[in-house]
Parts: sequence; C-alpha cells; structure tokens
Amino acid sequence: MPDSAMAIGVDIGGTNLRAARISSHGEILEKVSEKSHPDPEIALARIVDLIRRVDRPAVKAIGIGIPGRVDQRQRQVLSGGYLDLSCVPVADHIEAATGRPVIIDNDCSMALMAEIAIGAARGHGNVVMFTIGTGIGGAISENGTIVRGSRAAGQLGHITVDRHGRECVCGRRGCVEAESSGTAWRRHVAEAGYAADTPVDQILALGERGDKEALAVLCAWAGPLRAAIDTISATLDPDMVLLGGGLGKAAERALAYAPAQAAWFQTSVRAAELADDAGVIGAGLAALSFPGAVSVHASAATGRSGKRAVLVNGIPAAGKSQMSKAISDRTGWPILTLDTIKNPFLEQLGGADREFNRTLGKASYQAIWSIVRDAPDGSTFIVDAWFGFQPLALLQKHLATAGVEHIAEIWCHAPGEVLAERYAARLHERPAGHPGAAYIPELIELSKKAEPTGLGPNHAVDTTTPIDFDAVTGWVNYVLCDGHGDTAHE
Ligand SMILES: [Zn+2]
Repeated sequence: MPDSAMAIGVDIGGTNLRAARISSHGEILEKVSEKSHPDPEIALARIVDLIRRVDRPAVKAIGIGIPGRVDQRQRQVLSGGYLDLSCVPVADHIEAATGRPVIIDNDCSMALMAEIAIGAARGHGNVVMFTIGTGIGGAISENGTIVRGSRAAGQLGHITVDRHGRECVCGRRGCVEAESSGTAWRRHVAEAGYAADTPVDQILALGERGDKEALAVLCAWAGPLRAAIDTISATLDPDMVLLGGGLGKAAERALAYAPAQAAWFQTSVRAAELADDAGVIGAGLAALSFPGAVSVHASAATGRSGKRAVLVNGIPAAGKSQMSKAISDRTGWPILTLDTIKNPFLEQLGGADREFNRTLGKASYQAIWSIVRDAPDGSTFIVDAWFGFQPLALLQKHLATAGVEHIAEIWCHAPGEVLAERYAARLHERPAGHPGAAYIPELIELSKKAEPTGLGPNHAVDTTTPIDFDAVTGWVNYVLCDGHGDTAHE
C-alpha cells in the first residue's frame, strides 16, 4: 500500500490526552498532548483541537483509544472512570467535528495492536496485555485479532485475586486492579511506613540489596498480579503476557519477587516496548486497517482473508453497469446494485415521488451491505452504485459492519454532455419514480464535481473510449488478491 497513507491516533487518558499522526508503518510523524479533564465536553473540545493540530489532507481516518469498557463494533463507550464518556457518542461527535471516519476501541486493545505490529510482541498473534497505571487495563489478542466476546472482553483488571480483598470500582472485592495498580502501590508503600509517593524503582533497589520490608512491599504489590497472570495462563495459554502502561516495566521487575509457582503456568512475561506511544500508534494503525482506509502490516499479519468488494463507482449514466457486468463475466463474482433492489419496489408500488425514491435508494444501499454482511468470509462482491449519494463515513461504517477488508474501486466517468445523452436515451426504460428529464441539468453539474471515494486503490476509466475489460479485471484481481497476499479467489 502507498507509504503516504496516514491516520491520526488518539489516546484518551485520565492524566493526558494525546494525538499523533501515524504512517502506515506505525511511525509517529507528529505528536501533541494536552491535560485531560473530567468534563466530557471540555475533554472532547481539547481532543478535536489536538486532532486539528496534526491533521493533513493525506489522513484517511482517526482511531481513538478510550479507557474502560468500549463496544468497538457498536461504537459505544460502556463505562468510564475519571473521565466518563459513556453518555457521549464520541465517534459521531469527532466525525462531525473533523469530517474524518472514526474508529473507537479500548485503549489497551489499541496499545496491544501497536505492540504486536511494531513492539515487544512482533511476530506473535496470541498475546495478552495488562496496562498498569492508575488502574489496570487489559486486552487479549488471538491469532492477531482482538478478542471482544459479546461486547467488551478483556477487562483483565477485574480478575479476582482475593475474594475477600479490597473493594474495587466495579463493585466487587479483590480485583487485581485493587491490589496491583499504581493506586494500590501508593497504598502498599504507605502501609509499610514509606512515603506514599515512593517510586517503585527505589523500593526495587532496596529489594535487590535484600531489604526485608522492601521485599514484603514488592510481594504484596506483584503477588496478586502474578495470580492474575497465572489465571490468564490457565485460561488462554498465550505466547506471552505484556505489561504496559506507566508502571509496566516496574511491574515486570517486581514480578521477579513473585515467581510463577506451578509448572503448568509458565507464560513468558515481558515489558511492553512502546511506552506512552503505544496507544496513539495502535489507534492510528487501527484507523488505517479500518475498511476503506488502507491495509497495514498489523492487519496483514492476522492471516484472515475477510471479504472483498469491487466498488464500481460513478454518477448516473457513467457506464457502471457495463463495467460491472464485464468484471462479473470474467470472475463469477455477483453484482449488487441499488436498482436491483429498488426497482421491484417501484414496480409493485406503481412509482414514487423523488423523496420516496431517495428513501428507497438509502434502504437499498443498506440492503446491499446486509447481503455482504451475511455472506461467508472470503466472498467477493461487485457493488455498482453512485457512492457519492451518501456520506463517506456511512460507507465506511457499512464496510466495517459487513466485514469487508479489501476494496478496489473502479471510477467510471465521461463528459457531462455524454452522460446527458445516455441518460435521456434510457429514460423510457426506467420505472416511474426515477428522476426524469428534469434531472439532466443537475447531472451535468454533478459530473463536474463528482469524485471517487478514494477509500482504496482506484482505477479511473473513461467510458467514452474503448475499454480493455480484461486489463481492468486483471487490475482488480491484482489489488484484491495478489496485492494483499490473498490466495483464494474464484
Ligand atoms: Zn473490579
């Protein structure tokens, strides 16, 4: 994929809000930050400001990592802490403010994706991460894909390590977050008679010299974390457990004083590598792997074939149906068009006014992506539509919901006068309800400013010249199959 593809990654924390422009290789091109705030309105305004500071025309999408329970598929924040965004449609808000498609996910899931792509877990697919900060976050990757369960799996800070332990924010007792977080560290050192702000490194240094009180504090803090890691080891048996967040490295060192006891549970534990940058890098990579942005190494590493769509795009009368049919004849891939779904309704209803025609168009658009969604993994569809009739963000949402991972776009175009002639010539073939001859001047105007979606590799075809359909089909095959290392195609 082109190296010029970029995204913006945002990491929302209780202390800091961070945003960075990220390349498709996960490099940080520009980074800014700002203090966090407990008021959602103020925090969101600061986030929008940060995004604007690093935004560039080449940015394809925005990824946002949010602490707590996040339903990535439904784009909903389910719970919050210091900054509670559970009552706010974060993705819709940022999309409206920036005009860019937005993907949201749990902050630790974002960090884990970054560590798998370019950090401590490079080359591994089965990885579990704990982020140790004010609280404890968690994320699970299986074969390179984040495990989500029904909505928001991976809340590893709430693994029970002591049923009679301290109260946790979740309402239960003895969660590992209540024993091994940064907040818990301050309590452990204070209880041992040290100043509450004594850093872990200082106690680790004392522990290395054999100081008994220091060792007791380290065991009290790291022991419950070891128990949680053993539970992960027993339930998920990952390639490795990563410890990230502000105290990840310190926790990894402290675990030396609370070694795994059972031979069954000996999962390797490593400190994460990307430190504070993991969140923004992972969020940027997630945005780039969002269907319609571009595919990145992280998504390529998952080994999942996903679904593919050929977007045959162009305004009415641009020559899309001839193009779709030619590609379908050569590949066997089915064609989905708005008219295929819409026309039977118009026929049954005996026509419709322009407004109702538009409503049918929107419903047909939705129906197309529902068909793709229900098709098996690995399917390829040719979707013939004027994609500009609906917002780009909606298309990206449809692509994501439908599980489309690779797209190729064919942009059919012709001069306005040719379109007008073609449109006029086929007016009699169209069922009542389609806009009539009165639409022609609008069509000519539209032809001057219409553009392809730009969501993926794009091949423009002037449909007034002779078209080499074999060459076009070859290009589509290259982009959808060879270009992404896919093997299975019809
Ligand atoms: Zn809890």
